[in-house]
Amino acid sequence: MSGNIAVLVGGVGGAKLASGLAELLPPRQLTFIVNTGDDFWRLGLKICPDLDTVMYTLAGLVDAEAGWGVAGDTTAALDSLEQLYGLEPWFRLGDKDLATHLLRTQLLRQGRTLTEVTACLRRRLGIGATLLPMCDADMPTRLDSLEHGELGFQEYFVKRRWQPTVRAIRHPNSAGARLTPAVNGALDEADLVLIAPSNPWLSIGPILAVPGMRRALMNLSVPVVAVTPIIAGAAVKGPTAKIMRELGLPVSAAAVAQYYDGLINGFIDDCRNEALPIAGLRCARLNTLMRSPEDKIALARAGLEWIESWTT
Ligand code: GDP
Repeated sequence: MSGNIAVLVGGVGGAKLASGLAELLPPRQLTFIVNTGDDFWRLGLKICPDLDTVMYTLAGLVDAEAGWGVAGDTTAALDSLEQLYGLEPWFRLGDKDLATHLLRTQLLRQGRTLTEVTACLRRRLGIGATLLPMCDADMPTRLDSLEHGELGFQEYFVKRRWQPTVRAIRHPNSAGARLTPAVNGALDEADLVLIAPSNPWLSIGPILAVPGMRRALMNLSVPVVAVTPIIAGAAVKGPTAKIMRELGLPVSAAAVAQYYDGLINGFIDDCRNEALPIAGLRCARLNTLMRSPEDKIALARAGLEWIESWTT
């Protein structure tokens, strides 16, 4: 594939496809538009979990086992906060990881946008592909839970280990956000838009909730293709399947494709799933389970070949 690819991406699941694409294609062809609905402030620092996961993955720094954080990181700072000051360490921040949060926060405080700061960080880490936050405004995801009422994203996801029952997902600050020129430009120049196999509700949903994003995607005349995060009736990790059940949806790739209805014209389903019954949607059935670096490259290659086959 020789054209530009824009990829909507969340954290660990999405980063797997991102790394497959990055192994296969020159960096100038790749732009990753990353969820920032999980972002929050902790200890005076701006934390951007999904941006960092994608960034560490592309820089070859990621803790491969966890899928996030820096490989071989220590937690001396966090441990001291607990031991000396009794601070509850519910959000793990590694010492090397802290370097990213410190620099990001300083650059933001100097008045730079998150888009500018992210460009600076990824360049310093030697990443050639473009990495863009979905927007520059704070647009935190909030969850309405049965047991605890409204929860901030990290309180739900990390502190309460995604156990609360989700009744609704909200983006209350979305009115103050808008598409950045960088995201607009990446979509305008894209020859293909991919939606990574990230959590549709928690990772891709916030990106789609940025005002103007849905319209921008709908106006494209290029392939817009999503990859299923659901394999054989289950999520590979995390709360995707649990949330689908809680929202009254069947746990199936078809329900994911339905969620993207009107936005996508192609869907990469998993070969273990039943064939999709959605009319008017081009569908491939590939091995989408990415356990090894080879799996990631193989999925990226097979997906791109399939998309090229219906565009040429
Ligand atoms: P998070 O923000 O770290 O939870 O990461 P994402 O939202 O990017 O990814 C979570 C989703 O990735 C879950 O729904 C998983 O089912 C999906 N996922 C993780 N690994 C794989 C994989 O190897 N293949 C596919 N198809 N989906 C995956």
